[in-house]
Amino acid sequence: MAGLFEKVFEMKTPQQILQHVFGYPEFRGEQEAVIQQLLDGKDALVLMPTGGGKSLCYQIPALARVGVGVIISPLIALMKNQVDRLLQMGVKAAFLNSSLSFEDFQNTKQQLLKGELDLIYVAPERLVTEDFLDLLSQIPISLFAIDEAHCVSQWGHDFRREYLQLSVLHERFPKVPRIALTATADLPTRKEIIKNLQLESAKVFLSSFNRPNIHYQIVLKENTKAQLLEFIRTQESGVCGIVYCLSRKKTEETAEWLRGEGLKALAYHAGLSQKVREKNQEIFLNEEGVIIVATIAFGMGIDKPDVRFVAHLDLPKSLESYFQETGRAGRDGQPAKAWLAYGLGDVVSIRQMVEKSGANEQRKSLEMQKLNQLLGFCESTRCRRQVILSYFGEDFSDSCGNCDNCQNPPETWDATVAAQKALSCVYRTEERFGVVYLMDVLRGKETEQMKRFGHQRLSVFGIGKDLDKKQWSSVFRQLAAAGYVMADVEAYGAIKLCPEARSVLKGEVQLSFRKDRSQRVRKTAAERSIIRNKLQQENMDANLWSALRECRLSLAQKQALPPFMIFHDTTLKEMALRKPKSMDGLLGVSGVGVYKLKKYGEAFLKVIRKFSSLEL
Ligand code: ADP
Ligand code: ZN
Repeated sequence: MAGLFEKVFEMKTPQQILQHVFGYPEFRGEQEAVIQQLLDGKDALVLMPTGGGKSLCYQIPALARVGVGVIISPLIALMKNQVDRLLQMGVKAAFLNSSLSFEDFQNTKQQLLKGELDLIYVAPERLVTEDFLDLLSQIPISLFAIDEAHCVSQWGHDFRREYLQLSVLHERFPKVPRIALTATADLPTRKEIIKNLQLESAKVFLSSFNRPNIHYQIVLKENTKAQLLEFIRTQESGVCGIVYCLSRKKTEETAEWLRGEGLKALAYHAGLSQKVREKNQEIFLNEEGVIIVATIAFGMGIDKPDVRFVAHLDLPKSLESYFQETGRAGRDGQPAKAWLAYGLGDVVSIRQMVEKSGANEQRKSLEMQKLNQLLGFCESTRCRRQVILSYFGEDFSDSCGNCDNCQNPPETWDATVAAQKALSCVYRTEERFGVVYLMDVLRGKETEQMKRFGHQRLSVFGIGKDLDKKQWSSVFRQLAAAGYVMADVEAYGAIKLCPEARSVLKGEVQLSFRKDRSQRVRKTAAERSIIRNKLQQENMDANLWSALRECRLSLAQKQALPPFMIFHDTTLKEMALRKPKSMDGLLGVSGVGVYKLKKYGEAFLKVIRKFSSLEL
């Protein structure tokens, strides 16, 4: 074994590095082509979804080429995470950022000068200092990788001023190949990256943004907390997930409530002290069965491959944000769930937020446009994946079979007449009332308030008895989502007509609406255990699987590392399935590289052997 290990770092072809260092049998998608581009000394712009495998695109050429690979990354937490991972695989990596002590900083600098490092991660503000550029000019550099490259764009939300200065790399080191990477796919961002980083001659590698392992589901809010709990309880036990809420208060309340239900739930938002945030994040990374209830402050810096679900209790800002946030689930390629609860209240409150945002008109109209796309997605009866991918300009003509609409196609109904009734009711009551009151008028409910306004004498009074409250609420929600009406922020959510409503009132358009279903399926304990058993069967030998997980956990705890840094779930599952009995056999499991084999192989073989002997 030792001989093999020694040889690893002399192996220089990308394929050899992939197998021996990372333990993977083959490249994914565009990885190989991107790597070749850099080996040829040319620049690349890589657009790949989260979990697509961007890191290997620069890590492998950095190992294969002479010199150190310089990786620019905006997030301190991610740098440490990446470096820890690489160290686990025996790669000589380090980072330089403000979290290091003076001494560690000097040591790392020395290592750099002595040529002892294969990869160095740096924050952009550090990189562009004259000192650091000077240091770089004294050593051979294999490549520059600019991670999270969309930070250079002012179009998106993560703009970082220091990123604009990164064009200096090209000016100072014109011969060193550069690779910029991002999971943000929209065209305006892409154009800005190319312009601001002077990547005009870079080859663009655009991957599909489909995340086939993520299941998409949108439910209508009824009793949101109970629905969330039901959803979580149908997941395999011990899995980790993220629940997103809009407000800090709601994250805390929800976490507390879930704890009351016996779940390991923690809140995370920008209002908590850094210490608490770090602690909660660490628990999430290192333990099993942890649910983080968070505002969107949580996520960017988290690189946990085995997040099994992302649930939204409030609407994200746009379809792009939804895609990014849900994309944090299932980076390891294993099945994962994206679940969103949505209702009329969301449509109203999120429109209000845009209205009130204080942004200029142009920005507001852009935000409104983004919101409309998102609402269209929520109400769509088409395959969810199709809608998401068409937003990114991708053609996905098949039904995916892995979303709620594919699995349970929603029925539609001709809502033209109902919509006309609803809109005239808004008009006749002078656009001054909210949905609850409007429904009372339509359904002919004579309240005191109504008598005071004399609305029981209106022609629209009682014309909607054919539909119940739920159905009317569904009509108003879909009218709001489609932009025919909106709620007035200043007037306690009074419903107002939008200009487009005219065409409906005049009978110029036909409206086909979704038929809402009560989605609250109460699962009995027995049903839940059936689901669990099914999952366990899929995992093959369930006992071996949990024993392997225990072994991983104890190895991780000894080193204070997240378990996934030892091996991913995918790797453990393959072990449980194939039950290799020797070191060589173990090396054949995807995710087992030579260094990790040497370090951990025996421990896992022991577990497998123990179980195999029990079988005999
Ligand atoms: P991204 O940075 O694009 O979000 P990562 O680089 O973190 O994605 O990769 C996502 C996951 O896929 C990681 O767990 C990584 O180890 C795994 N992975 C990457 N490339 C391969 C490959 N060729 N074969 C198997 N797994 C891979
Ligand atoms: Zn689908």
